[in-house]
This record gives sequence, structure tokens and C-alpha cells, in this order.
Amino acid sequence: MRQVEVDNFPCLLFVTHLESTQVLSGNGYAQQFLHICFDELSLTLTDVLSKASLIFYESYVKPILINNGIFTEVQLTLITRRGDRIPAVANIRLVGGTLFWAVYPAEERDKLYQELVLARESLEEKTEELTRLTRLDPLTSLLNRRALNTDLTKIITFMRRKYVPVCLVLIDIDYFKLINDNFGHEYGDEVLLRLASMLTAVVRESDLVARWGGEEFLVALYNTHLQDVQYYCDRIHEAVHKIRLPNSKKLTVSIGVAAIEPQDLGDKDVIAKKISKADDALYKAKNNGRNQTQLG
Ligand code: GH3
Ligand code: MG
Ligand code: MG
Repeated sequence: MRQVEVDNFPCLLFVTHLESTQVLSGNGYAQQFLHICFDELSLTLTDVLSKASLIFYESYVKPILINNGIFTEVQLTLITRRGDRIPAVANIRLVGGTLFWAVYPAEERDKLYQELVLARESLEEKTEELTRLTRLDPLTSLLNRRALNTDLTKIITFMRRKYVPVCLVLIDIDYFKLINDNFGHEYGDEVLLRLASMLTAVVRESDLVARWGGEEFLVALYNTHLQDVQYYCDRIHEAVHKIRLPNSKKLTVSIGVAAIEPQDLGDKDVIAKKISKADDALYKAKNNGRNQTQLG
């Protein structure tokens, strides 16, 4: 092949010694691309590769070349004489102490890769947002029933390794149907929203607060013994009383509580059983005149 033909290949070809970084020769395309001249005696790899690429070449590529005689698809950054940094892919072959480089600029591929990374990041963000939405109740933005079950299951797994007392607190608005009937469904929604933000404010960050059903809420109090739970429930009753209905009456709730104890943890249905226990206590609170807490 004649030199003029070699010069026209649309890839950068150059030759270096294995023992030094001196660039011995190259094709015309490489000279044009890098704005250099291979006749310069002092031209070395330092002039055409980025610092990081040179370190990578010396420490990683070279030993493999010595071993295998060839290294394909090395990712490098070329530096032109004008100082532009251009991503590239190289195949390098070792023949009798001389290295033959075929280097392909990979700007487009790099751009595509960057776009793919961005697309993936945006997809991950959207998935995260969707996951968040599927976990939350649309009206109150509290955890929904399914999310509470998932989170509580994780807590139970943790409790099986290292016990921490957890209490389940089931809260049901008293005579909510009447509130809807007397003041309208929209007003009812407003009450649900206010109760939701009040519950979130009363508990600690490690506690779980969920909308369990229509006008029922479930709070999982972390690191709380049954004997200490009354304090929380009193705070809930107190805060709820601050919500005044249009007829000036206080809003009230009834509360049923169940504690998850060490001996419960062997049961695989522990969550369902404990919630049912809290529900029984809630039923007792309703029958006993409402506006009160019953411990199960
Ligand atoms: P109790 O004191 O025995 O709990 O009586 P209650 O009226 O609160 O209970 P009941 O189960 O009879 O009624 C609950 C009402 O909650 C009926 C239902 O229409 C209403 N409800 C459920 N979900 C929503 C909601 O998202 N918004 C509104 N405004 N009302 C709801
Ligand atoms: Mg109810
Ligand atoms: Mg109710």
C-alpha cells in the first residue's frame, strides 16, 4: 500500500516503540486530526494522549500488550495540539518491540453514551416518583395500607433479629358518617386531611403513619412499650379536640392499641393478628362511649 493511500484511511495510525513514548511515524489523517506533524523528532505520547490515558497505558495496557501482543478497544482521550480533548477507541498491536496503533475518534459514541446515561437517570427518577405514588394515599399523602404492610414486614424482620417494642395504634373518627351527612363530603375530606397532618406532627420520624381505610388511620409506634402508649394516645385525643366542627362540637376519635411482643414474632401472620387485636380494642372503645383509647 502506498503512503498516500495509508494517509487517507479515516482512522489515526501511528507507530511507537514499546520502550519509549516517542511517536515514530503516523498517517496523514492522524496529523490533520491532531494538528501535529510526525516529523517532529521530539513528538511523544504525552503530546497526543491525556495524562489519565497515559497513566492507564503505562500501568495497564502495556503489560497486557507484552503478554498478549494485542490490546483491542482501549478507551483513550486524545489531545490535539489546539488542546481539544477527544474520546477515542484504539486497537494496539505489538510486533517485535514496535507498537502499531489504530485509533478511532469516538465522539458520537460518547455523546450517545452520555444521552443514554441521562435517559437512564431520568427513567430512574420517574420510577422512584411512581414507586412513591403507589405507596401513598392520594388524599392525605400518608402511607397506604399496602405500603404500611410492606414497611411493617421489614420492621418485623428486624425485630426478629433484635427485639424493639412496637405498638400498633388504630384510630377511627367518631360518627364520621354524620360529619359527611351534615357538612358535606368535601368538608369530610378536609377533616381527614387535618387529622392526617396532625397525626404526622404528633408522632416521631421513625414511626409509620398510614391511612388504613376510609376514616381509619394506623400508626406504628417504634420503640414504644404498651405502658407508654397512653401518652401518645392522649396527645392524639388532645390534638383532635382542637379540630372544631361547624356546629362548634369537638372532633373525637376512638383508638385501639396492640403491642407486638417477643413471643408474637414466631407467628408468620403476626401483623394481621396484631391489627385484628387493635381492631378488637377499637371496637371496645366505640362500645364504651367513643372518644377514648383501649389497650388490647
Ligand atoms: P363510628 O363512630 O362507629 O366509627 O361511626 P362512623 O360514622 O364514623 O363510621 P361508619 O363506618 O358508619 O362511616 C364511615 C364513613 O366514612 C362512611 C364513608 O362514607 C366515609 N368515608 C370513607 N372514606 C371517605 C373519604 O375519603 N372522604 C369522606 N368525606 N368520607 C369518607
Ligand atoms: Mg370506621
Ligand atoms: Mg368512624
